[in-house]
Amino acid sequence: MRLLCLHCREISDVEQTETESCCPVCGDVNIPAYADDTVTLTLTTHELRILTMWAANWAAKIDTTPDAYYDAAHVITGICDHLAQYTDAPLTLTQEFADLRATFPDATVTVYRDGQETDL
Ligand SMILES: [Zn+2]
Repeated sequence: MRLLCLHCREISDVEQTETESCCPVCGDVNIPAYADDTVTLTLTTHELRILTMWAANWAAKIDTTPDAYYDAAHVITGICDHLAQYTDAPLTLTQEFADLRATFPDATVTVYRDGQETDL
């Protein structure tokens, strides 16, 4: 079976009898995805942007909590990077602001998260 590590995005071929307890590439111990268990769906770019922006936002918030045990922002960024190959639209606010800064290099763009200035 082929397993997709959600941390490093590498796919590993693993025999079902093997008892792998971590990704052989990066050592991540979280549950991988079955690389061949996929779904095809249709949604608007706007719907995709809503889902990815909310996911990235909440993952970033979770990663700042004291009891965070999982690198959620890293995983969501990997998924968004994968999805980005299917659209030219920015899928995260980080990308949206990067595009804005690239379009208007002389402009000052300040971003706040929970009242704190952030470097998105
Ligand atoms: Zn990995």
